Amino acid sequence: MSEKCLEYISDLNAYLDGDLPDELCVEIEKHVGECNNCKLMVDTLKMTVKLCREGKPEDLPSSLNDKLNNMLKKKWDKKFGQ
Ligand SMILES: [Zn+2]
Repeated sequence: MSEKCLEYISDLNAYLDGDLPDELCVEIEKHVGECNNCKLMVDTLKMTVKLCREGKPEDLPSSLNDKLNNMLKKKWDKKFGQ
């Protein structure tokens, strides 16, 4: 991996977030088109970003949450005799 690659890679996160100026994006895209190392890196990062965005855990439904809280409270009361 060349010095140039490392330079691009440090910008890749910003690139994927769309935070880079257009001319730098074009430059990175050109390099990624010619460089297998960086292409692999971009593909991996893209996949990671996607997984992060889609992999958010959902909140428990509130009814389930209430049940859980009640159950815990009952156990607590029993244990400490209140
Ligand atoms: Zn490269």
